[in-house]
Order: sequence, then C-alpha cells, then structure tokens
Amino acid sequence: MRKEKRVTGLSIVPGKGVGKAYFVGRATQQTSLVSISRQDVGDQIMRFNEIRERAKEEYRKYAESINGAGTFDASILNIYEHILDDPAFIGQVVETITTKLFDLETSIRLVSNDFIKRFSAAGTSYFKERVSDMVEVCEKLVSYINLDEGRTRTFLEPIVLVVLRTFTPSDILRHDIDKMQAIVSASGGKTSHAAILARSYGIPVVSGIRGISEVIRPGDQLYVDADRATVFIRPPASMVARYEREKPPREEINRLKKKWKRPAYTRDGIAIEVMSNVSLVNDVDTANEFGADGVGLVRSEYLLANRKEFPSEDEQGSFYESIFKKIGSKHCVVRMMDIGGDKTPDFLKMPSEFNPFMGWRAIRILLERQDLFEIQLRAAMRAGQKANYSIMLPMVTTLQEWLDAKAVISGVAKKLGVKTPPCGVLFEVPLAVLEMGSFMREIDFASIGTNDLLQYLSAADRNNPKVNYLYNPIEPAFLKILRSAIDTSKDHGKPLSICGEMAGDPFHTALLVGFGLKRFSVNPRTIPIIKELISTISFAEAAEATSHIEALDSPDETERWVKRINRRLVGDVLQKLPLPSDF
Ligand code: PEP
Ligand code: MG
Repeated sequence: MRKEKRVTGLSIVPGKGVGKAYFVGRATQQTSLVSISRQDVGDQIMRFNEIRERAKEEYRKYAESINGAGTFDASILNIYEHILDDPAFIGQVVETITTKLFDLETSIRLVSNDFIKRFSAAGTSYFKERVSDMVEVCEKLVSYINLDEGRTRTFLEPIVLVVLRTFTPSDILRHDIDKMQAIVSASGGKTSHAAILARSYGIPVVSGIRGISEVIRPGDQLYVDADRATVFIRPPASMVARYEREKPPREEINRLKKKWKRPAYTRDGIAIEVMSNVSLVNDVDTANEFGADGVGLVRSEYLLANRKEFPSEDEQGSFYESIFKKIGSKHCVVRMMDIGGDKTPDFLKMPSEFNPFMGWRAIRILLERQDLFEIQLRAAMRAGQKANYSIMLPMVTTLQEWLDAKAVISGVAKKLGVKTPPCGVLFEVPLAVLEMGSFMREIDFASIGTNDLLQYLSAADRNNPKVNYLYNPIEPAFLKILRSAIDTSKDHGKPLSICGEMAGDPFHTALLVGFGLKRFSVNPRTIPIIKELISTISFAEAAEATSHIEALDSPDETERWVKRINRRLVGDVLQKLPLPSDF
C-alpha cells in the first residue's frame, strides 16, 4: 500500500471534493472500463476503422509537410502507419470490443497497454523504442473518439479529473459532470474559460501542480481541498470522513436558494439585478433554479464545442429558441460568438498565432467571416421574435468596428423583416473602455468583461498561473477604471453590467455596489450568495465607504481597504456564506 502524500498548487475554483483520479492527456491504463451493449458492437468497429484511416491520413500529410525540411526523419511516421495497419493490433481491438463488450476507447487503451508491456519486456532496443510509438498511436486514436459530437464519458463512481497539461473547456464537457468532484491540473488560470465552466458547475479546481504523473497514479483516491490549494493523495479514511461531516448543512443551502428566487434590494431599497452567465442550454435551468433575474451573458461559442462543422442556422435557431423559452419573459443577452483565444473550434482553420488572445478573435473574425456572423444573427433573430433579448458584441476595440457590425445586424433584421433588438458592447479591450463616452451615444447597453480587460491591462495571461500574481482585480488602477466606466454609463443613462468572474466573487460585492453597479452577471450557483450580500448592504453607505479609492496606490493597501469595507458593510455574513460548490 503506497503512502499518503500531499501536493500544493494554485486555488482556481474553491471548494472540496473526493474521488478517484481519472487521467486525461496521455496513454495510461484507466481504472474505469466502459461497457457497451451488444447492438453497439458493429458501430464501434466501424468507428475504429474510420479513425484508423483518419490517423493514417493525418500522419501522411504531416510527413509530406516536413519532408525536405531536414530537421526530422519523417520515416518514423511510417512506423505509426505500420502500427495502425498491424493485423495483430486491429484484431485484438476488434476482439476486445466483440467478446468483452468494452467501448472503443477502453478497448484501444487495453490493447495498447498490452503491446506496451510486451515491448517494454523485450530484449532488443528496437522493440523498447516502439513503446513511445504505441503511446502516440493510442492517444491519436482516442483523441478522435473524444472529438465525437456531444459525446461525454460516463463514470460509475465519483472521479477527480487529472489533467496533465492546461485544462480546457472540452476536458469538462467531454466527461460526466455529475460524477466530477474536482479537477487537478498542471496549468490553467482563474478566469480561463475552463475555470469559468468549472465554477458554474461548482467543481473545485487546483492547478499549477508540478510533475502530476509522478505523484498521482490513475485510480488513486484524491481529496482535493481547493480552499487550501492542496491535493491529498490516498488520504486516510478519517480525513475523508471529516470532509463528509464538515459539508455545510443542506438546510442552510436550501434556505438561501429558496429565499433568493426573488429580486434583491439593498438595505436602503435600491434594486440590484443579479443575472446569470450561461454556456449550454441546460445552464438556463440552473440559472432559474438559483434565482437568476435574467441571463446577462450567453457564451454562444459553446455551440461550437466538440463540433466538426459550423452548426446550421436551424440548429443554432433551436439553441436560442430553447434558451429564450426557458428564461421566459426575463431578459437575455446573447453574445455573438467569441471564437479565438482559448476557444478555437476544430473545424475553423485558425491561423497559428504567437498571441491568440490578441489575434484573430471574436468581432474581428465575425466582420471578416460575415457569412458566419449572418447565420448566427438570423438564427437568434428568428428565434427571438417574441423574446426579450439583446445582442452583445465581444472584443470591440474601435467605434468603427461597432458601426460596421451594427450595419450587418440592422441589414439582417431588415431582410428578415424583424425589429433590430437592442445592441450593446462587451467592454473588454482597454482602448474601447477609454473611449466609452463615444460608444455611449451609439449603443443601447454596456457590459464589462473584466476577465479579458484585466489581462490586457496587466499584460498577464489569464490562463497562466505563473503570472497570476499580476492578474489582480483589486489593483487600484483597475478599480478606478471600473468606477469611471460605471460613472460614464450613468451619465449617459445607459445600463451597464459586469459579467466577468470578478462580479461573482463575494469579496467584491460591497465594493462594486459602492461603485454604483446595479447589474451583476455571474455564474448561476453564486446568485443566492451575491443576493444575500446585496441585501445586507446599504447602497448609500457603500458609496460613501468606497469614495476614498483615489487615495489608494498599492494592491496590498487596497486589499486591506476592501477587507475593512466588507467588515463594516456586511459584518460576518461573508465568512458564514456557503461556497458555490456547496450547492
Ligand atoms: C470577459 O472577458 O470578462 C468575459 C465575460 O468574456 P469571456 O470570459 O468569455 O472572455
Ligand atoms: Mg472576454
């Protein structure tokens, strides 16, 4: 029995979870074996043949592209082809599917591992070297399986997803969310899209763990305490029992959820909307369950996750129709697809860029690929004829971009013979925020995307834990920019929300209310927590307490200042509140 161990990293999403380590990102023997029914056998074998052909084609193309470059011996790619055509390999995978009734991924992994064992035990160096070739081929095939549309891997018992690289939204979407108790990852920042998704499902995350595969083995029991950024490997039973005992009482959680189905007012009667950010249609059910006053951000690009091609207008239309139907008469802000950065669909031939977050992204793509933009607009407008919705444009940098995009929107509405919905800008590029006053005359509403805005202002990648110390929302300059943006919108009488992750962090609630923010858009599970805080705050007192911001000039000083404000305005309510992952 191997000894218990602990490793620490960076807390990305707070909370705690216990489960068995399930690895993604390299060839390993999995402990969960996924079974299929007999009638699926033929389908799985056909799929096996398809992905073998696809892999061979890819290796051939790769060999062509590097032939002549002189830096790499392309003949090793022939070995991969050789394995893919090896009758012994093919025969064993087919036999495992047929006789053991395991699914394709399980069968490929079992057979590959069997080959790997035999190669490792062989006496000659030639066979020993085949081990890494086998790993490559196995992972290549499995990666295609996981690209299958909408396919998620299901588990029988609770798991902790262990990601050996930066974790991505697909890592979450391709696995059974209900069984995912936590995520442990080599890399990934607090406002990465994967972290946002994990937060919205209440899945605790610790990232920045070095040498994961040296300390954790597949199937190990893990206790992830993301509040302390610590992962306990093979924890003693007493620790797991204590975790179960210390879970916050269900009654308190249910009481908060029930209470905040209604709108929130500050103590002095100012209405503050708390809307929800959503990515998938089902998230709207969660938003409703947690008392959302509407949807402040639909991250519509999730429609493209795990897709082989751009979804048709009808398919996109039914996505919006379902969302609008579920949210009923409440308002819903649909953000046009924010493709690029860390959300690059497999089918769109994205150029490889040194700086994807500063490259061809969002509205920059939509204005160039107007065909895609128009399909999305038509889908939303046709679905939205009776809905209370608006359209928001991501990553707008210049007023001209906005005017060009607005012309496309009005053109599509005219052709369809429908009213142009209210249109607004997601302010997340510093230039646009600095020019907010000029935008205000043209737009119907504004939202601030603090996730990107902060990364561009601090020049610190939101996904990179190494520079996380610079990515600090309570940097005084950043807070001053936020307050001035809120003032600008107020001066022009245009509604403004904050939909970046900052708005959902209870530590910032009193501060943002003090700045005059009247619309939050946050992950669904945070809604009751933010509403509870709002109801304990006096709007006037918060404004007074935060009016001294101009005097601050260091993040440490600001942190102490925000703590004092929280103590004064919400007392010990903040400490007593449950975490989103407790719901
Ligand atoms: C943001 O940047 O704050 C935002 C809301 O957009 P996303 O996180 O999807 O980039
Ligand atoms: Mg953004």
